[in-house]
Amino acid sequence: MTAFTLPPSRLPEVGTTIFTVMTAMAQRHGAMNLSQGFPDFSPPPELLAALDEATRAGHNQYAPMTGMPVLREAIAQKVDKLYGARYDVDAEITVTAGATQAIFTAIACMVRPGDEVIVFEPVYDSYVPGIVLNGGTPVYAKLHFPDYRPDWEQVRALITPRTRMIVLNTPHNPTGTVWTAADMQALAALVRGTGIVLMGDEVYEHMVFDAEGGARHESLCRYPELAERSFVVSSFGKTYHVTGWKIAYCLAPRALMAEFRKAHQFIVFTVHAPSQVALAAFMRNDRWYDELRLFYQAKRDAFRAALSGLPFELLPCAGTYFQCVGYGALSQEGDRAFVERLVHEAGVAAIPVSAFYRDGDDRKVIRLCFAKSEATLDEALARLRRWAAAGA
Ligand code: PMP
Ligand code: GLN
Repeated sequence: MTAFTLPPSRLPEVGTTIFTVMTAMAQRHGAMNLSQGFPDFSPPPELLAALDEATRAGHNQYAPMTGMPVLREAIAQKVDKLYGARYDVDAEITVTAGATQAIFTAIACMVRPGDEVIVFEPVYDSYVPGIVLNGGTPVYAKLHFPDYRPDWEQVRALITPRTRMIVLNTPHNPTGTVWTAADMQALAALVRGTGIVLMGDEVYEHMVFDAEGGARHESLCRYPELAERSFVVSSFGKTYHVTGWKIAYCLAPRALMAEFRKAHQFIVFTVHAPSQVALAAFMRNDRWYDELRLFYQAKRDAFRAALSGLPFELLPCAGTYFQCVGYGALSQEGDRAFVERLVHEAGVAAIPVSAFYRDGDDRKVIRLCFAKSEATLDEALARLRRWAAAGA
């Protein structure tokens, strides 16, 4: 055998994602898995029936590269109705294999070696590897602890002539914060007159709570001045409890979308056809979005009420299906060590928030996912209570 020397890694700092690590640890130890973000309950039966029907109706061959027309049509109607944004069904909407692929593709088609891309820490874990694989340089803005709000002066200072893109994520994973109209205006003021492209990861768009108090999802789509330079990404996985289907979409104005599609067609070409047909049929139910919001809001409220009896510091949760808690009153150990101990001693799995920081910034905060059945959450809470009572 000749000696083969492995080329240097293009992602030397990347290991296995924390979501996979924690889910595997939960499974090994029979822990209640509040770590990885996915529902442990079933999608709506009508959606499953629609999928069955779509396969039987013959939607089993390649979908068009841009996505099934019925689904693109349904998406166009949705974003018009919700955000007053007009996207052309044929030229400005592309169906993707999950938000992950949409995000990667938007980066791949825009970012060249030497380009800088601003991300906000704590940062969802797929952005930076996408930037690095495409030769870009990630530039880190930090959300302010503990309210995790953006600091626009800091962002202004990070912008250089090499800034190609800013990646934003609202509602935000892992912190559950939601950007405000003032944030969007501050962003608009920063990018006005520049060539900076925006990418909005809006996969939790339908999980913005406390609408009674005036909260709403601030989609990039709502702001024509921002939308004209934006890729906007959402995912059906979150919205319809089907994370395993890996169907999402990207919106962008014609010229940006043309570039996106040049990459999309060679990254994945086209995505699972029958689920697109099923989702299009199910999207006729436009009461779903309000129902989903109220469903998760009730879960959030019940979860927070139960957690308030435990020695954790509850951080705000304005959106998403994640609740962050501080454990500083219990222990001064690092958050990775703490979540490991939580699995072993309490039988509950969580995500250490330091995993979302390049330098592992550890504020003794963990993320708990409440997209779980009542039975799962009740059992997890009972375990946490027993563990705390026994001295944590
Ligand atoms: N962005 C964020 C913020 C997410 O939380 C997730 C998944 N949980 C994704 C993107 C990826 O979505 P998908 O599963 O549709 O690829
Ligand atoms: N985005 C989900 C989370 O934050 C998990 C998706 C994944 O495992 N990549 O938990």
